Amino acid sequence: MNMIRDLVDKCISCHQELAPCERNRSECLDCRDKTIEAYGDDSEE
Ligand SMILES: [Zn+2]
Repeated sequence: MNMIRDLVDKCISCHQELAPCERNRSECLDCRDKTIEAYGDDSEE
């Protein structure tokens, strides 16, 4: 059933296929990391 493969979640930022453990997210770990870093920049200084 190859059709199911079309339903695989992809990162909304880099469109890379998400790993099974990332499928409940909209972004891959890499992009999520960048987002968190951007948000956490305030407390860094
Ligand atoms: Zn990504």
